[in-house]
Amino acid sequence: MPRRLDPREVREDFPIFSDPKWRDLIYLDNAATTQKPRHVIEAIADYYSRRNANVHRGVYELSVEATELYERARRKVAEFIKARSWREIVFTRGTTESINLVAYSWALRNLKRGDKVVLTEMEHHSNIVPWQTVCGLTGASLSYIPVNEEGYLDLSELDKCLKGAKLFAFTYASNVLGTINPVGELVKAAREHGAVTVIDAAQYVPHAPVDVAGIGCDFLAFSGHKMCGPMGIGVLYGRSELLEEMEPFQGGGEMIREVRLDGSSWNEVPWKFEAGTPNVEGAVGLAAAIDYLSEFGMDQIRSHELRLTERALELMAGVPKIGLVGPENPKDRCGLISFTLADVHPHDLAEFLDAKFRIAVRAGHHCAMPLHTKLGLTATTRASFYVYNHEGEVEVLARALREALTYFMVS
Ligand code: PLP
Repeated sequence: MPRRLDPREVREDFPIFSDPKWRDLIYLDNAATTQKPRHVIEAIADYYSRRNANVHRGVYELSVEATELYERARRKVAEFIKARSWREIVFTRGTTESINLVAYSWALRNLKRGDKVVLTEMEHHSNIVPWQTVCGLTGASLSYIPVNEEGYLDLSELDKCLKGAKLFAFTYASNVLGTINPVGELVKAAREHGAVTVIDAAQYVPHAPVDVAGIGCDFLAFSGHKMCGPMGIGVLYGRSELLEEMEPFQGGGEMIREVRLDGSSWNEVPWKFEAGTPNVEGAVGLAAAIDYLSEFGMDQIRSHELRLTERALELMAGVPKIGLVGPENPKDRCGLISFTLADVHPHDLAEFLDAKFRIAVRAGHHCAMPLHTKLGLTATTRASFYVYNHEGEVEVLARALREALTYFMVS
């Protein structure tokens, strides 16, 4: 039986919320990073207190144990996202590094002048900039699937857009609009055109069940720190056949089989892509985070966030002069809401919410400048939810937004 998700009880699992300084904090910046439960903090402390050694190379018991922990974490990740094999899981520093790995190890070597890379207008910079760089180096061209006024991808010309594409990279869920994209449909269309698919799942894997084998994508990236895990650890899922064919991303220790003065050969997948001493602490923490989330089950986490999003959209829609960004239907969204309030600058609003209500939200372009330009905005304020947020907090947010109108003398 999964543990019942009662957000007020869940809050007790997170030491930061019992710190006298942060006891009354309403933390709504989970799309940027989540807080860490005791379970994860203790797993990391335990690793350093009782199991720390460098992995893979040691023959002594402590190193063997550390290696086991690291590799067990890989198996746990594989199971969590339903990969066919643990060999399809590469540990990276985060989503950004995972996408760069594909850009440099796959795209740089497989694209040439005249080839086409397709992205969408709702991408985070980490799913735009690496492709711009690689297209610049190879002479391939870049095009974008447009976003419509309702905040969805305009798929009316998907086939036309994908014609001749070598690679299609898109987000599972937008970190600004909240839109959850129809990834199965996108992958299917890309496959019909022979394009390799890369999914940025930074805003989805932490919040709902994911089945990479079912989706049929070639690559999928996410970050540990957005799902209760530590910073500096992330995952690249890659379909075995592609990982086998690819050249390494970086060179150094661990990723080699043999080094001679006149050349080198590579280790097996996935270690071929993990040059140097890996982030063992990060992998251990991520495994603990997966255990923690699995106590509730990802279906229950999704339902909880959906309820919060429904309530938040309902309450926020009633605030005068608010501009809600993204799909109206909460079911099509992940648990985040970006908005504008009259002509109050999002930075001023975020400071007000923090100073007067202890509400932590993010303000700015959220690393999605092209999308903001498309929306005709320079910045938005974003509230994003997780397992420890409850309806009472959403109600305070709505009340605070009404008070902001008075404070900023919006007439
Ligand atoms: N992609 C999306 C959709 C994101 O929201 C983020 C982070 O905010 C990233 C990529 C980058 O993640 P990281 O900074 O952990 O590499």
